[in-house]
Amino acid sequence: LLEVRNLVKTFGTKTVLDGVTFDLEEGQTKVIMGPSGCGKSTLLRCLNRLEEPTSGSVRFDGKEMTAPTADVRALRQLIGFVFQNFALYRHLTVLDNVTLALRQLKKMPAALAEERALHELARMDMAEKRDAYPASLSGGQSQRVAIARALAMEPRVLFFDEPTSALDPVMAREVVTLINRLYLENVTILCVTHDLYLAQYISDSIIFLDQGKVRAEDKAENLLSGHADPVIASFFGRKS
Ligand code: ATP
Ligand code: MG
Repeated sequence: LLEVRNLVKTFGTKTVLDGVTFDLEEGQTKVIMGPSGCGKSTLLRCLNRLEEPTSGSVRFDGKEMTAPTADVRALRQLIGFVFQNFALYRHLTVLDNVTLALRQLKKMPAALAEERALHELARMDMAEKRDAYPASLSGGQSQRVAIARALAMEPRVLFFDEPTSALDPVMAREVVTLINRLYLENVTILCVTHDLYLAQYISDSIIFLDQGKVRAEDKAENLLSGHADPVIASFFGRKS
């Protein structure tokens, strides 16, 4: 589904992504980990063209997305993006948060948008909060609404950038359980995280990024303990 080849991103003289190459197949879930500042968020942002890559190639469904003629709006509708801090609209109810883009971007009739939204809220165990406002939700509940909102657009892939890092451990586990449910349903996911618990429960493999390069890609159990590469061993040694 997603083929990334030699992706480079520089800011001025600073090279943040230094030739990143990996694939994400339909139905797969990959997690991106690595030290702070190694370029994880920049990578996600380059993949949906929130940032312009400096060079390299990103193919989505066989179509070159870095080409000047690429349809960036269409690309962004294919990618659901969930952020660390939920980004819900505070003045809208839970239900309206989820239906807004369906009505405005997809031009869906209100009744149909509501039906779709309630289906996705139910998938995240949040349907009973349909009339609540974001201020009355816990962090975990807010993140579940943000995920339902992304899913409602029927993206081909979901991107997560540290979906649990703003949450306390109990709420983080609740969100991990629900992301794991999507993983078991074979939703295609690319997830940046520092959360080892999340990485183990939702991934087919982990891409370890270091100084803008893919240093390793392997299954969680092969990376997390006693890795031969000292940089990887010390990264996971520190955190586990
Ligand atoms: P963290 O784990 O802390 O979230 P990260 O791996 O997501 O880190 P990025 O946010 O991708 O790291 O940033 C990588 C590097 O690129 C950092 O050194 C950052 O300062 C730099 N950077 C990111 N965005 C810009 C920008 N718009 N202009 C200049 N430098 C930037
Ligand atoms: Mg980041």
